Amino acid sequence: MLEKLFPTLSRLRFVVQALMLFITVYGSVVVGHYAADKISAALPALSCAYDQMNGSYCVLVPTQHQVHHRIGQAMVQAQQLTVQMVLPLLMVFLTFFAFFFVIGKAFCGWVCPLGTLQDWIGRIGRRFNIGLRRFEQGDLGAVQRVRPWKWVLLLGLVFLLPLLTGLGVTPHALGNPYCEICPSRVATTLLTGNTEELALRMGDGWKFGLGAAANTLFGFMLVGGLALRLPFCRICPLLAFNSVFQRLSPMRLAKPAMHESCSKCGICTEACPMDIPEIARQSGRKAYNEDCTLCGRCVEYCPQDGIIKLKWGPLALFSSSREYYKAKVKRELPDGTVKPLKFVRNAARPAADATDA
Ligand code: SF4
Ligand code: SF4
Ligand code: SF4
Repeated sequence: MLEKLFPTLSRLRFVVQALMLFITVYGSVVVGHYAADKISAALPALSCAYDQMNGSYCVLVPTQHQVHHRIGQAMVQAQQLTVQMVLPLLMVFLTFFAFFFVIGKAFCGWVCPLGTLQDWIGRIGRRFNIGLRRFEQGDLGAVQRVRPWKWVLLLGLVFLLPLLTGLGVTPHALGNPYCEICPSRVATTLLTGNTEELALRMGDGWKFGLGAAANTLFGFMLVGGLALRLPFCRICPLLAFNSVFQRLSPMRLAKPAMHESCSKCGICTEACPMDIPEIARQSGRKAYNEDCTLCGRCVEYCPQDGIIKLKWGPLALFSSSREYYKAKVKRELPDGTVKPLKFVRNAARPAADATDA
């Protein structure tokens, strides 16, 4: 029967075309706008949306709509995201990596203003004969117990809280929490004569608390730093961040093998401002610890020729040497002890004489 109605394919096609023309042009008159809308949603067809009588919408209408309102907007947002966030972040990371590639963790030992200030405060302590307090070593010593804190600060204050704040979970005041507690912010602005960063922000509880933490850390660094070496560096999140990439830089500390005297000596650890025991007890990769700031003091104080080296790639920039060690200890002992200033010596003498008497 079908063959009688449509003897040829072209006939069938003609009928379908006519039917579809009717549906697409006048369809909503037959099925109603509501049903036409549903049908078009379920089966988008080529039908003009400007025709008020059609039974469905041309697929290009919702397509344009989606491209315009969704994809277009998403691309604008993505563009904004790229220009405002991804590119600056990329620039920061590229600069960081370029810089880090060249000097590695020597940033800490040679460049960081906060490291320099702590170093100098420690020297003042030695000059004024303030006894050095060392972080206790050993497997469960203070050195080991303090180490995880830099990771906690890095993950919590540099990544987690800013992310949670961006997502609207934590208050706006916690968007920049590490900078809020960073003693470097206080120290470096004070060095420019600006005292604003010392002031506590009274209106906001979080800002007040974070500012108070910054001032406490800064105060501890100033006072505690006279007796403890590099007190803030031990919990510094930048040290943790740098240590993740420390193997990527050609700048490094190398102690390829133990010397026979290492087991009894330990002078390098004594000289190390971060009290790193691994430099004396280990060799190879383990000797270059995550806490190392590449300051080079262990190299200066190792009395054995060529055992520890500061290297840039294959180049040995500085090697331990017995001659250098002998000259060095005449001026300063490994733990940083130096001859106190003259008036400190004079002030100490009568007290010592009285005790002797
Ligand atoms: S550990 Fe932190 S504060 Fe210390 S020198 Fe490195 S970056 Fe500076
Ligand atoms: S100072 Fe030199 S010899 Fe002494 S423990 Fe350190 S690496 Fe070994
Ligand atoms: S291990 Fe050596 S280079 Fe590293 S921080 Fe200690 S003294 Fe400085």
